[in-house]
Amino acid sequence: MENCAFCGGVLKFFEKINENVDNIDNAMDNITVAAEAAAEKIKLGKVTLSLDAPPSELEPEGVHKYGEFYLSSKGFEEDGVEKQFTTKEGGVVCISFLPVKGEKWNISEKSMIAVLIKSCYIISGRARVMSLMEKSLYTDRMTGICNTEGFMRYGGMLVARHQLVNYAAAFINIKNFKYVNQLFGSRQGDVLLRKFSQAMDRFVKDDGKFARLGGDNFVLLIKKGRITDLRAFADALSFEMGEGDMRQLYNLRLRMGIYEAVETDTMGDIMNKSSIAFNAARGDERKDVVFFSPLHLEEAIHKKKISTLFPTALDNGEFVVYYQPKVRLSDNKLCGCEALCRWIRDGKIVPPMDFIPVLETEGSICRLDFYVFEAVCADIKRWLEMGLDPVRVSVNFSKRHLHNQRLADQILGIIRKYGIDGSYIEVELTEMTGAEDFTAMSVFVDRMKENGVATSIDDFGTGYSSLNLLKDLDVDVIKLDKSFFTNINDADGGISTDRIVVKNIVNMVNELNMEAVSEGVETHAQAEFLRDTHCSMAQGFLFDRPLPKDEFEKRLSDEGFYADKG
Ligand code: C2E
Ligand code: MG
Ligand code: MG
Repeated sequence: MENCAFCGGVLKFFEKINENVDNIDNAMDNITVAAEAAAEKIKLGKVTLSLDAPPSELEPEGVHKYGEFYLSSKGFEEDGVEKQFTTKEGGVVCISFLPVKGEKWNISEKSMIAVLIKSCYIISGRARVMSLMEKSLYTDRMTGICNTEGFMRYGGMLVARHQLVNYAAAFINIKNFKYVNQLFGSRQGDVLLRKFSQAMDRFVKDDGKFARLGGDNFVLLIKKGRITDLRAFADALSFEMGEGDMRQLYNLRLRMGIYEAVETDTMGDIMNKSSIAFNAARGDERKDVVFFSPLHLEEAIHKKKISTLFPTALDNGEFVVYYQPKVRLSDNKLCGCEALCRWIRDGKIVPPMDFIPVLETEGSICRLDFYVFEAVCADIKRWLEMGLDPVRVSVNFSKRHLHNQRLADQILGIIRKYGIDGSYIEVELTEMTGAEDFTAMSVFVDRMKENGVATSIDDFGTGYSSLNLLKDLDVDVIKLDKSFFTNINDADGGISTDRIVVKNIVNMVNELNMEAVSEGVETHAQAEFLRDTHCSMAQGFLFDRPLPKDEFEKRLSDEGFYADKG
């Protein structure tokens, strides 16, 4: 009779332990549930399980766990059943069942308990495999931290609990990581990624999530109150790199876009907004950390709109060329012009500053520049055919072209295609900062000179390497940026820093046998000052605004003299 009760307990145990075992969270709890359900009948006092697993890819530190799954309030006896199992990966699972205080199991009972232990082993093994499978699904192999799926799952859980609003999200990239690979080799680069990931993971751990998106891009969720700590932690990150004599401390610098969640945000919203803030950080050399602002969103929408509309607009001929005259200051005669692009969209003129910077960042500016250049060559050819005497037309070429080693060939090819003389063309480039860029620019300028095409440096004085450029680049024209002239007007008594700077630049330009063009000349006083300074040419609203093609043609057919002295 007693034995029958024991058997009933054993059956109860089996029934309970096999309930809902497909759910990992339940599987281990089932041992407790089954033990509780069967405890009285099988006279159970205590159930324990320990697991020792060696280190593996998914568990780099191995596993050492001990758990009590059942403990009777009456206490327990030491003489029970204990079994050890060795797992395939070399781990050891030890499960022990002890009878309740004052009871003793006989041999047949002990053998039934041994069967229960075996079933616990199978259940716990299955739970472990399932949790490892889940872990591998949500773990980044290379660094061992969470991957994108795991991150989204964690965030989804916060959303479901209405807790996301307490968090900030950051989109993170390691600055100059490609140089780490170049300097120390890609294997060391991987080591750095791992060390960095582990350090950040430990920092974020308990109340957030740090995840690798891929490459050196990361994302994190952290309680809003820890943002300041995060920034301090990120600022102090440094790791030992290299081997042997090459060993050195490497200070890591991060670029971060941070967004603080609001009540209505989904995971999609916070990913989107932190990456928009990140893009703003990437576009701003002076700031490594940028907090999201609605303005960034507007900019991103604007950018998206421009890049989507651009290809069709170009095919539809929505981009047209305006020409702004340049005037020789010694005789006030039209001596050249600059081709400036306009986007005619729905009958309205979109100014270049609304679309050129966007096309610059995504690279399609190169297509536009060639489009404008072809249009200019076609116009010059037509003016010649009309019997007009065209002036030299300067065309803006973005600095993005300088990475194109065929730039010079392409420009010369187009000039040839339209059968015009290279002397009608001047290529305007802007100042560059890097040494690599300088070399590319210098090679390009020399190729143009050999082929009789003039070159100029645009917006001179707004970049960094101005004086080196003057000395080492064989350009024909220096265009002084219009920002120099805002302070040079009638009210200005005579001595201003800008006057001194302009005077000296123009002097240097003249002495180097180049020509100076001043841009943005709007007043008589400015023109007068420039004439006194022996600046060769001026371009600005004082003489003409950028003109549509037919109006500019009238200037070409006129005598071409301007009177600036009102
Ligand atoms: P930029 O090459 O420095 O062109 C001179 C800019 O100064 C033009 O602006 C012109 O309209 C403006 N400007 C001329 N005179 C005056 C003046 O007296 N006062 C003031 N305040 N401004 C004056 P725009 O046409 O708006 O073009 C802006 C910039 O867009 C250009 O600056 C150039 O960098 C870029 N851009 C225009 N067309 C093209 C193009 O086809 N390709 C490339 N890559 N860039 C272009
Ligand atoms: Mg220009
Ligand atoms: Mg300019």
